[in-house]
Parts: sequence; C-alpha cells; structure tokens
Amino acid sequence: MNVVVLLGAPGAGKGTQAPLLSDRLGIPVVATGDLFRAAVRDGTTLGMDARRYMDAGQLVPDEITVRLLLERLSRPDAGHGVILDGFPRTAVQAKALDDALVDRGERVSAAVLIDIHGDELVRRMSGRWICRTAGHPYHEVFSPPNVPGICDLDGSELYQRRDDQPDTIRLRMAQQLSALSDVIEHYRSSGVLHTVDGLLPIDGVAEAIDRELAAAGIRPAGEPSERAAG
Ligand code: ADP
Ligand code: ADP
Repeated sequence: MNVVVLLGAPGAGKGTQAPLLSDRLGIPVVATGDLFRAAVRDGTTLGMDARRYMDAGQLVPDEITVRLLLERLSRPDAGHGVILDGFPRTAVQAKALDDALVDRGERVSAAVLIDIHGDELVRRMSGRWICRTAGHPYHEVFSPPNVPGICDLDGSELYQRRDDQPDTIRLRMAQQLSALSDVIEHYRSSGVLHTVDGLLPIDGVAEAIDRELAAAGIRPAGEPSERAAG
C-alpha cells in the first residue's frame, strides 16, 4: 500500500498536484484542509472549533486534527493507499501517523516536499480560487479555469477562501512555517524525504514528483511496487 505525503508551505501547490497524482497512482486524496472546510460548511461542532483557528491563520490543535484524519483513513476507500495533502503539519501529527500505520504493518512510502519561497506563496494564495464541491484549486493568472468561475473537473462554482486574504496569508506563513520544518526533518531522518522545485510550472512539478516516486519504487496501484533499497 502506498502512503504518499505531500508537504509544502501554504500555497506551494499541494492541492493542485494531489488530484493529478491521485489519477496516476489510483489512490484517493485525503486533504485535512478540505475535511475542515466541509465540517465548517456542515456546521458541526468540530467545524465550529476548527474555524476559529483557520480564520486566525493558526493550525488546528493536533488532537482534533489527528482524530479527524484517523477517522477518514479508517474508511474502506483508503485501504489501498492514500495521498495526504496538508497532513501531517506538526511533528506530533507525523508521529501519530507513523503509529497508526505501524498498527497496520505499513509506513509512509514517500514524503514529497514541494519547495518554494515566500514571495511566490503570497502571489499564489492571493490569486487562488477553489471549487465548492472538491476544493480543486485554480489561479486567476497561473491556472485559470476554462469557463470563468466554474470548476473544469466537476462544474461546481469557484470561490475565494476566507483565509486567502492578505492579512490571514501573512499570519499563516508566520505561524505555520516552523512546524513545517519539524515535519520535513521527521521525514528526512526516516529516509523518505524527496524534494521537488515548486517554482516549476504545474506540469513540471508533476513530472518531478513522478521521477522522485519512481526512484522510490512507487508504482500505480495494481502494479507491483518495489521499495527502493536502503
Ligand atoms: P493550504 O492549502 O493553504 O496549505 P489547507 O487547505 O491545507 O491550506 O488548510 C487550511 C487551514 O486548515 C490551515 O491554515 C489550518 O488552519 C487548517 N489545517 C489543515 N490541515 C491541518 C493540519 N494537518 N493541522 C492543523 N491544521 C490544519
Ligand atoms: P496548496 O494546496 O499547497 O496550498 P494550491 O495547490 O492550492 O497550494 O496552489 C496555490 C495556488 O497556486 C493556486 O491558485 C494554484 O492554482 C496555483 N498553483 C499551484 N501550482 C502552481 C504552479 N506550479 N505554478 C503556478 N501556480 C500554481
């Protein structure tokens, strides 16, 4: 079973790459940001809790986030592997994921860091529009939809996230980047970290991710997968 973690600062391109990679590997995407936004929309207690943190640009506490993620991973469609977008975001979450996988005799197959610097992140988030149904991201300049305001993939309406306004973007970068470096270190020390240049165009990033995963012996679901030596 392949468990691929996509890592990167807010705006790096995780949500753009995740569905493309999902098509190629034949395993679903689990994005904690999307799960939280769905909970907010549904008005659940968890959603109301999470919203306070999201609006303040802060990480939602680990306990809430880990519970949500593990519940999602226990559903049948995640049984053959999963692409994680936006989880783990702290060392505590990374450890909780490792523990949950060990219980199933599994481990994180690869953690791919989409590497990109601050100025570009702000440009990306401030032009981002996502779709109501599945959170598919677009950008008004870099990746516009075919029909303005409509998702190419599922036809739903596009909107701008509340936390993608300049003030909250700055807060998110200030409050989330140091935890990201802890997560990067976690996977570097376990030997599964792969880094791709996030400044490439979208298809260039996708190709770089494919190269890294192929080198790690990760093949589409259904094909025999071999783990890289060492
Ligand atoms: P982005 O795509 O900009 O990185 P996400 O959609 O992944 O943002 O997440 C939106 C917000 O949801 C985050 O700013 C944070 O408040 C919350 N969130 C998402 N994933 C996590 C996580 N793993 N741990 C804590 N908070 C999270
Ligand atoms: P994340 O999920 O890491 O927060 P997204 O995938 O939502 O990031 O991308 C942030 C914004 O940047 C979106 O508007 C998206 O369309 C755009 N984008 C993503 N990848 C690229 C890229 N390689 N080049 C230019 N724009 C990109």
